[in-house]
Amino acid sequence: MIDALVDLLKSSRNAIVLTGAGISTESGIPDYRSKGTGLWEKVDPAKMASVTFMLSHPEEFFRFNISQWAKYTEAKPNAAHRIIAVMEREGYIKGVITQNIDNLHYKAGSKNLFEVHGNLRTAHCINCTNKYDFNDIVAQFYEGINPPRCEICGSLVRPDVVLFGDPMNKDFYEALKAVKKCDFLLVVGSSLEVYPVAELPLYCRQFSIINRDPTPFDERAKIVIHDSIGKVFCDIAEKLNLKYE
Ligand SMILES: [Zn+2]
Repeated sequence: MIDALVDLLKSSRNAIVLTGAGISTESGIPDYRSKGTGLWEKVDPAKMASVTFMLSHPEEFFRFNISQWAKYTEAKPNAAHRIIAVMEREGYIKGVITQNIDNLHYKAGSKNLFEVHGNLRTAHCINCTNKYDFNDIVAQFYEGINPPRCEICGSLVRPDVVLFGDPMNKDFYEALKAVKKCDFLLVVGSSLEVYPVAELPLYCRQFSIINRDPTPFDERAKIVIHDSIGKVFCDIAEKLNLKYE
C-alpha cells in the first residue's frame, strides 16, 4: 500500500494534501469527533463555536473557547506535519489544505497553505475590521477584559476562524480552485464528514486516504490506508529518502 502511494506521489505533477483533525491527535490535540472521547459529545459545537453564541453570549463564548484554543496554540507539529512540509519543499506536493485551526502546518513550515477553517494567529474587529494578533485576544482575556475589545472602536475582536454560521473564507475558495487543477489529492486524518470540505475529493481526478478509521469516501479512493498517520508518514519519508528532523 505504501509503495503504491509513493509511486502515485512520484508520478503526479500537481499533488495536494488535505488534512483534518486526525493528523493533530499525535500532537496531543483531541479529535472532537472521535467516539467516546470527543469533547463535542459533551457540548454542542453548533452552539459553543457559533457566530450566534459569540454575539449573544460573548463572555461565555470566550471563556469556553479560550481554554480550547490554548490547547491548539501550545501544541507542536509532529512527524507527519514536518514530513508534509518537506514533501512540499522537495516538490512532491504543491500545497496543503487543512481543516485544522491549530497552526501546526504553518509552524512546520508549509508554504502554500490553505487554512479553510481559518487559523489562530490573527483576529479582527467585527465592526471596523481592524486587524489584531490572536495573542492580543488572549492577553486581554487574562487581564480580565472579556470579551476582548477593539482599541479603535470598542467593538468585539474575534479570531480569524470559521465558526458555525460563518461563510467559508477566501482560503476555501482558493483551495477549491487548487483541487480542480490537481492530479492527485492525498486526504490525511480527515473523516470527510464536515461539509463543504468533505466534497473536495470529488473535484479532483483521483484521491487516496490515510485515516485511522473508515470514511464515507473510502470506496471511491484509489488507495486507502487505515493506520497511525505518524507511522505511515515515517514510512513515506523513508521511501522518498526525506530528512525531516
Ligand atoms: Zn474596531
